[in-house]
Amino acid sequence: MNQRTLAGLLAEGRKRRRELVAWRRHLHMNPEPSMQEHETAAFVAERLRETGIDRVMEGIGQTGVVGLIRGQSSKTVGLRADMDALELEEANRVPYQSKRPGLMHACGHDAHVACLLGAAAILHARRARLPGSVKLIFQPGEEGAGGARHMIDDGVLRRPQMRAIAALHADTQVDAGKIGVRRGYDTAQTEDVRIVIMGKAAHAARPDQGVDAIAVASQALVAIQQFIARHTNSVDRKLVTFGIIRGGTRSNVLADRVELTGTIRSLETEGREAITRFLRRDLRKLVGAMGARLRVKIEKDGYPPSVNDDTVVDVISATSSGMLGAENVVDVPKPNLGGEDFAYFGLAGLPAAMFRLGIRDEKKGFTSPGHSSTFDMDDRRVLPIGAAMMAATAIALLQEF
Ligand SMILES: [Zn+2]
Ligand SMILES: [Zn+2]
Repeated sequence: MNQRTLAGLLAEGRKRRRELVAWRRHLHMNPEPSMQEHETAAFVAERLRETGIDRVMEGIGQTGVVGLIRGQSSKTVGLRADMDALELEEANRVPYQSKRPGLMHACGHDAHVACLLGAAAILHARRARLPGSVKLIFQPGEEGAGGARHMIDDGVLRRPQMRAIAALHADTQVDAGKIGVRRGYDTAQTEDVRIVIMGKAAHAARPDQGVDAIAVASQALVAIQQFIARHTNSVDRKLVTFGIIRGGTRSNVLADRVELTGTIRSLETEGREAITRFLRRDLRKLVGAMGARLRVKIEKDGYPPSVNDDTVVDVISATSSGMLGAENVVDVPKPNLGGEDFAYFGLAGLPAAMFRLGIRDEKKGFTSPGHSSTFDMDDRRVLPIGAAMMAATAIALLQEF
């Protein structure tokens, strides 16, 4: 795409600044949890119809919304935004603070929706010149509920089929005004793990008569971390974190049962298998040597790792460099061990890539990471860039695929 077209698209984004900010702030004030994005979905559908998009489908994958902009051919590419908020109390004291106690858009999905609505408006206005069609996918339940999979099960990949798909994610690791791109592994495979250690209760003063499940659990925890640090390839990133530990009934009784609940994050299959093997086989021996028994449950319903497609990444790199200047496009150096259900689109065989919309602004104090109660961004500055980039990416993908 030539420089003039890209500059024009950025100007289009900037022209819609007021609208973009108003949309994002409305959503920010009215967050909804995963798979319950009813008002958000209705808001999205309403905005799409207002824009003039004639094909808008609701209820795809429960609360998902799909819009279709018909261009000059049936060739179609996709753009995706996620809509759900997090169970978190907002600590920001801003005029657009969350109105719902215990719920907050702390991952930037409000901004993702605003950017995609903005891109929809920009693309719809240019539909007479669009080399193909663009499917706008607003998905529910990214934060653990696998909303992308629900939409895929509900047919979002069909009628029309897409040739490629892109998405953006707000990122406080990337400076505002910049775009971050990454080849290959982008986010991790996630798996839930539950370990139960069964000992034997006894009087606290006679531990030799029982098996102290708390003491065994402490050893097990250290052994797991040591196994990862010393017995697996350190170049391949992976981790196990236990966020919940429960056990015991009284201060003077040996605990007979301890339950650890956590998450396994990994990129390569090899690392994932090594951890699984250790938990299922070696940890059992270790726990057994201390007289306790072990139960390990690894839930395979976590997200697969997401892998950015090289060609889509090239398209995004060229588009963002052309629009913002090469100095404003940065490589995201490392994959993220967070999970991201955008992975399902790639897994379904679609060339897919996600890019980062920089929101870090130290001067203005926007440095809090995603999933924190002080997460926020200078929406006036970053949303026009996000909307323009989404629109430009769709056009560039139509030209490439
Ligand atoms: Zn998140
Ligand atoms: Zn997110």
